[in-house]
Amino acid sequence: MKRLFSVLLFLLPAAGTAEEADPFAEVEIKAQQVSGSVYMLEGAGGNIGASVGADGTLIVDDQFAPLADKIIAALDGLGGGRPKLILNTHWHGDHTGSNPEMGKTGTIISHDNVRVRLLGEADYPRSGLPLVTFGDNLNVHFNNEDIVLLHLPGGHTDGDSVVWFKSANVIHMGDHFFNHRFPYVDIASGGSVDGFVANVEKVLSMVPDDIKVIPGHGPLADKEDLANTTATIKATAAMIRERLADGAGADEIAADIEAEYAEWASGFINASRWVQIIQADLNR
Ligand SMILES: [Zn+2]
Repeated sequence: MKRLFSVLLFLLPAAGTAEEADPFAEVEIKAQQVSGSVYMLEGAGGNIGASVGADGTLIVDDQFAPLADKIIAALDGLGGGRPKLILNTHWHGDHTGSNPEMGKTGTIISHDNVRVRLLGEADYPRSGLPLVTFGDNLNVHFNNEDIVLLHLPGGHTDGDSVVWFKSANVIHMGDHFFNHRFPYVDIASGGSVDGFVANVEKVLSMVPDDIKVIPGHGPLADKEDLANTTATIKATAAMIRERLADGAGADEIAADIEAEYAEWASGFINASRWVQIIQADLNR
């Protein structure tokens, strides 16, 4: 559990000292329409995708547990309500934190490994577990949308999926996309840097040029944003590996990356962290 929290805390909003009772008290859930029945909700933690329509409400990821009521209120505001279906892009708590609440009345769906990893958490509430899991991909039919969940192996973790709303022409990338930010690759959860890049390049080769892209973190994006972010990930990863091979120290490399890519740091994932991830990946 300790490691999970260390992964999650950096994704919290900047607000909050240790004494503050509820670091989520000031968090507002803001919704914007992306296309057709599909919305993006921002609060704290991973961006939420939502489809609201005649069949009810479906969401992609659900942020942190203390935000569950606010998320449901935001869905109410869109004319929806408590979600019937909850799709998890991966197991991290800033994307699955409200599972235990949402799962009381909805069905949670994910890749097999999301359930495995949540079961590995001590005393994880049963209502938060995915009831339907899949291996490679799954089709969901809801609100006149053909929704495809595609598993991306060994990238951000070993249990990630992207969620592609084919009719609305929107894709939720989960944490394979930190928009214009250094990525987080969870090596301890079966992630890998090259796998991450290969996964995103596969998605880029599949989706139409005019698709709208919901990132795991950061503002709503398009395909070009996804391609540009991935190009920077590749360029900086190559630079870091080359410098490490030449015997440069991590601090020195991080300072150089920081100088060239200052605006790519966000929260916990600064240039130093990105260098550490590359080092951990090399030592895998
Ligand atoms: Zn994540």
